[in-house]
Amino acid sequence: MSVFKHNSDYNILKADLITLSLELTHEDFKKVDFLLTKEFARGLKSTKDSTIKMYLTYVRSLPNNEERGQYLALDLGGTNFRVLLVEFNRDSSKIVDCVREAIPAKLRFGAGSDLFDFIAEHVVSFAIKHQLVGVRIALGFTFSFPLQQQGLAEAHLVTWTKSFNCAGVVGFDVVRLLKAALKRKMHKSIPYVDVVAIINDTTGTLIAGALKDKNCMIGLIVGTGANACYVEKLENLEKWPFNYSDPKQVVINTEFGAFGDNSVLDFVRTIWDRSLDAESVNSGKQVYEKMLSGMYLPEIFRRVLLTLIERGVLFNGHLPLELLRPNSISTKIMSDIDQDTNMENFTKTREAIKKLFPHCKFNEVDVKIVFMINNRITKRSAQMVATGIWALAKRIKQNEVSVAYDGALISLHPYFRVWVEEKLSQFINSNAPGKKIKLIQANDGSGLGAAIVAAVCYREKRPKIIKKRGKVYQITSFQTK
Ligand code: ADP
Ligand code: MG
Repeated sequence: MSVFKHNSDYNILKADLITLSLELTHEDFKKVDFLLTKEFARGLKSTKDSTIKMYLTYVRSLPNNEERGQYLALDLGGTNFRVLLVEFNRDSSKIVDCVREAIPAKLRFGAGSDLFDFIAEHVVSFAIKHQLVGVRIALGFTFSFPLQQQGLAEAHLVTWTKSFNCAGVVGFDVVRLLKAALKRKMHKSIPYVDVVAIINDTTGTLIAGALKDKNCMIGLIVGTGANACYVEKLENLEKWPFNYSDPKQVVINTEFGAFGDNSVLDFVRTIWDRSLDAESVNSGKQVYEKMLSGMYLPEIFRRVLLTLIERGVLFNGHLPLELLRPNSISTKIMSDIDQDTNMENFTKTREAIKKLFPHCKFNEVDVKIVFMINNRITKRSAQMVATGIWALAKRIKQNEVSVAYDGALISLHPYFRVWVEEKLSQFINSNAPGKKIKLIQANDGSGLGAAIVAAVCYREKRPKIIKKRGKVYQITSFQTK
């Protein structure tokens, strides 16, 4: 419900009315939950016939604190990639170092080999920086795009999402592409980086969370994009191709960002959601993700502001030229505006308007309208996320379920997590009082999880000494500290 309902100012009332479609009722969310639940079930039966793919990940058991030694992780997200050096000791895991690099736009649309060369270059220089020369070190690869996995170190890219569209990668095994690029960059004196596992960022987050909390059964990402994974029982998986031996569970990567691609979400989509989608690189795809993740919220916001100006309700109908430029607003600015919850002087919103539109004249009412619109968009996003989590948590038949989360939007926005929790409580109170859903932050969990999986696979496989091109390499020491 809008906080401005009783304000007599005509423009606020008009803006409220024009953007009412951004405010959904609990009945709407109940319907979204119902539809999601149905789609999840369909995806568990068959990947082919569903919009939510529910991919098998090959991750069956969660870590048990037995991992030791140093490992590398590479986390390719929608905006950034990170290289991490992680160390596991008896009772702790520590990120020794993490470097973050934005992926330049030209690489996001260029040849796949250029993208992988760029990444490999950074991995190798990171390893050299840490004096991992002449050693063999295992690397876990977190890849945040839909994958069809054939094994723990073999996975074909199904489609690019977010702002990526590199040629020559869809349909190929991305582990092979990374290994080939690393091979091009590794010379005799430098480390031998062994890519032993590939996982999705949600799986990484779940694994990192499971290390802290034994009830952790769901991994959630809300950053550039949005996705979730969870632990499913094999008996509920008609499409499970192997035998049903222990552990009788597997992590399912839902790829729930694609929810709505078959039009079922049309009843809650606004004109701004539709126009954003129509002009995106993957029109008609990732409908749910486009309503809630960091890459899209500012574009929804920009489009709503344009409509209000066009209708003469905002900035006295004057259009700041900056607003015509796509992607001119950042999600960080939306986070800043949402800090103004005391509703008194709207300091942050004023600052944001000045920063975004330096030449724009605005008054008190404009500030309130900008705050209201921003708030409606971010809140809707958090409530949509909560509905997705609720639909998954219902599948897990235990009273206490923890959800590990990562991604800049949910981690850095001042109230996003609180709003997710509020909506979850609403679902719990009316459907399953007694159920507890706890959110736990897994900072850099997506990368950390990849290092853990690398460690688990290396536990069995690693050779003590390896010989390569006539030279003897010693592997990293794995003694317990
Ligand atoms: P990735 O998606 O590449 O793994 P992140 O999880 O760091 O990376 O998410 C980056 C996205 O998060 C940005 O594209 C932006 O949309 C959003 N974001 C970045 N900073 C903030 C912030 N302070 N508040 C809210 N959202 C943010
Ligand atoms: Mg990420």
